Amino acid sequence: MQVFKFGGASVKDAEAVKNISSILKKYASEPTIVVISAMGKMTNKLEELTNAYFHKAGDTQKILNEIKTFHFSILEKLFPNKNASVYNDIENVFVELAWALEDEPSSTYNYHYDQLVSQGEILSTKIVSAYLNESGVNNKWLDVRGIIQTDNSYREGNVDYELSETLVNSQLLPLFKNQDIVLTQGFIGGTSENFTTTLGREGSDYTAALLAYFTNAKQVIIWKDVPGVLNADPKYFKNTKKIDELTYHDAIELTYFGASVIHPKTIKPLQNKNIPLYVRSFIQPDEAGTVIKDGDKRIAVTSYIFKTNQILLSIQPKDFSFIAEDNLSVIFNLFSKHHVRINMMQNSAISFSVCVDDDKQKIEPLIQDLQQHFKVLYNNDVQLMTIRNYDQDTIAKLSENKLVLIEQRSRHTVQMVMKDIEEV
Ligand code: ASP
Ligand code: MG
Repeated sequence: MQVFKFGGASVKDAEAVKNISSILKKYASEPTIVVISAMGKMTNKLEELTNAYFHKAGDTQKILNEIKTFHFSILEKLFPNKNASVYNDIENVFVELAWALEDEPSSTYNYHYDQLVSQGEILSTKIVSAYLNESGVNNKWLDVRGIIQTDNSYREGNVDYELSETLVNSQLLPLFKNQDIVLTQGFIGGTSENFTTTLGREGSDYTAALLAYFTNAKQVIIWKDVPGVLNADPKYFKNTKKIDELTYHDAIELTYFGASVIHPKTIKPLQNKNIPLYVRSFIQPDEAGTVIKDGDKRIAVTSYIFKTNQILLSIQPKDFSFIAEDNLSVIFNLFSKHHVRINMMQNSAISFSVCVDDDKQKIEPLIQDLQQHFKVLYNNDVQLMTIRNYDQDTIAKLSENKLVLIEQRSRHTVQMVMKDIEEV
């Protein structure tokens, strides 16, 4: 068994879908679970739809139409025959979406988010599965919500490993009797009451890792539009270098600091079963890419992780008492309650500073709660730069024209919270 994962960029248009067909013809010569994300930027679009619906902050009809037009234009390029049954399947998904949007929200934002946003994966897998079957790559479409079981923490479902593993054995593995490829959705799961959950943005990698874990796969390949794991995000840096080999430990650290190449939850299940993870290019599929596996060699290459859209909170006791254990425990409890992940923190005698992703949905209620006990100052539009295997020159270069608000160094890693000078 092997598990392949194709992300949004690898199914962003008809050409990309055709390319998947040729990759599978070449590399899926053994039982393969294929995990697919929503097409292109459709998850963002569906988030927009959810906001328009839940907060009445936009034209749901218009957004739904854009989503529909996008998918149908891909369908038309893949299936010149308008009688192909996939047209009906996709139409039905949109009919149900339109119905769902007619009712008033009946539950929380996160619940509705999951019911709506998950449809991106349903649509993409239905289209890709049908196209592959038509192009001679026999496969079975599987609804992963009947396999990956989670609790009802909407938007970050916690996976029930035991139950999911039982379902993999009873529902997924038997499908391989009739074909070599089972194609399913990343990112989504189901609750015991058959509601849909999601596993967190970019969670398809995690799905691939889970399925590999449950089936004791020999490898996972994540097919991407980059040649492998790079030492920096090409969106922000020129002259990036590909890293050939990483240990699980290195990969966990990189994702922990925010490298967006792999979802942070992906590594652990693979490490537990010693399953290697390959990151390869779907544009140059013959190239070796990066392998992440067991080993003791640390990477020597300098890597840069740049996170934008950060907010720096500075939390101070109202009575000028020290930041001590009692205060810290109240603070950490509130961060945990609001599911806000701390990207960097630092404390001084009377203030505790925390850098986090500026996700308004989470941060505003968190600040309100914190303000019951503390004075909270904040600085938005800051950036968090992490450099592993740093040297003084790179630090100087990267902090040029920046105001460094906080800097923290350990032996291998430096982190800086910075702001562009013009904005100060
Ligand atoms: N489609 C989801 C997202 O964009 C999951 C994924 O791509 O991994 O977040
Ligand atoms: Mg995606």
